[in-house]
Amino acid sequence: MTTETARSIQEPARTTPIFAEYDVLVVGGGPAGLTSALAAAEDGLRVGLIESRSFVGGNMTIGLPVLGFLGQKGNQIIEGLPQKFIDRLKERSGASEHRPCPLHMGITLVEPEAVKTVALEMLTEAGVDVRFYTFCAGVVMDGDRIRGVITESKSGRGAILGKVVIDCTGDADVAYRAGVPCEKGNENGGMQPPTLMFCLAGVDTEKLRMSIADQPKGARTYLTDFIPAEYFGQNHQFIIVGLRELIAKAQTEMGLRIPNERTIIITGLRQGEVWINMTRVKGVDGTDAASLTMGEIEGRKQIDDIVTYLVNYVPGFEKAHFTKTAPFLGIRETRRIVGQYVMTQEDVLSCRHFDDAIAVASYPIDIHRPADDGCTLIWCGDCYDIPYRSLIPTKVSNLIVAGRSISATHEAMGAIRVMATCMAMGEAAGRAAKISVRGNRTPAEIDVEEIRRQQLEHGVYLREREEKPAEAQLEKAL
Ligand SMILES: Cc1cc2nc3c(=O)[nH]c(=O)nc-3n(C[C@H](O)[C@H](O)[C@H](O)COP(=O)(O)OP(=O)(O)OC[C@H]3O[C@@H](n4cnc5c(N)ncnc54)[C@H](O)[C@@H]3O)c2cc1C
Repeated sequence: MTTETARSIQEPARTTPIFAEYDVLVVGGGPAGLTSALAAAEDGLRVGLIESRSFVGGNMTIGLPVLGFLGQKGNQIIEGLPQKFIDRLKERSGASEHRPCPLHMGITLVEPEAVKTVALEMLTEAGVDVRFYTFCAGVVMDGDRIRGVITESKSGRGAILGKVVIDCTGDADVAYRAGVPCEKGNENGGMQPPTLMFCLAGVDTEKLRMSIADQPKGARTYLTDFIPAEYFGQNHQFIIVGLRELIAKAQTEMGLRIPNERTIIITGLRQGEVWINMTRVKGVDGTDAASLTMGEIEGRKQIDDIVTYLVNYVPGFEKAHFTKTAPFLGIRETRRIVGQYVMTQEDVLSCRHFDDAIAVASYPIDIHRPADDGCTLIWCGDCYDIPYRSLIPTKVSNLIVAGRSISATHEAMGAIRVMATCMAMGEAAGRAAKISVRGNRTPAEIDVEEIRRQQLEHGVYLREREEKPAEAQLEKAL
């Protein structure tokens, strides 16, 4: 411990004003927070959403495609509110179709500015009280109940209360402060490294894709990972992952510092625009402001060499120019709550069914390894369920967690973290909160069948329950 952190001051006790009170309070307006608030508000409850930034959308505003709508068998497995959101984006040319991809299963391109506008429109129409520039800095507890959160903002310090609170901060900020046990990273505490996304314009994306597709089989000088070259001959909107040979060449010939083994290029929705997912800062802890600052500084430093590499080595980038960075460093992994059930790699890889399934996912385990510049990818061949108990923390009775910080191991989190899945969890969390408030029961006490019934009624895809072996059924009967 440094002397700095060991030092402290004593603050005088103070009276904190209550800024607002809701039936359901959602903290964090990313993919999970958006659908949580929409679902909670759908039949008239008072719902508030607080967001520390000046816009909603979270990581959906940093130039990433939404992954997870399509399953490994090509079928659409996420519908409901996430699909409604994409439909609304499409009305403004703010989203693509769900495009099949051999590596990512399905990619849905979204335009960051349209995401901010449409998400806010939908929340406002649903009657959700959105509060921007409002950071959750603490909690108000009453025994094992969370009464609400303490916020800091231009208005000073204030309390915002809710009968049920949904933590969608991605970092489990609320759960952690409320005393829910949390874990971070792999067995060594290593977390997936963050990336500062950035955007280039003036890219000839047709030349780019055809340069991959047209290389003669057997004489290809650079390859894409897992995605056959032919794919690029048929798809105008795509993600390129690979071109490792070109990075190695750039490093040898120009001495460039590229922090990634793989070139990752995502076409934008606008002509000639691409987003680059290649900066990578090891050792950042996204729950520590000093570490985040280091990540922003280091990520920004990496951009120049990556741009030089792209312009000099990747076909189609000859006339490209840098336009902008994402509004913030993209954090892949921080805290995960320890909830009533901890999802594991085995659950994902065995395509496990759960009786309390509230959403279905299919994205593979995709871990940007904390300690080196590589990535681990493992597919299970089909879908797996997200159990409701993984959204329900231990220790605090009226809190639900949705999004990337649900109760899962480092490996399972590497699969459930994608945005369509986070939106699907959010939708379930919002309905669970609504049922909890209406029935005056804690989220752990409510009947999961009721959540599932409401999910199905609202067009959510759930799998048929798995047939139990005869022995297990007999046991149940006895
Ligand atoms: C570089 C990178 C690449 C990725 N690639 C993809 C991809 O291609 N496709 C894909 O689908 N997924 C991708 N992911 C994963 C995905 O973006 C995230 O896992 C997902 O966005 C998590 O959603 P969430 O709602 O849980 O959290 P977030 O998207 O992080 O949203 C959390 C929200 O809560 C707010 N917030 C946080 N703390 C507080 C607080 N204390 N008080 C108030 N507000 C708070 C934040 O400002 C934010 O708006 C990627 C992630 C990263 C970082």
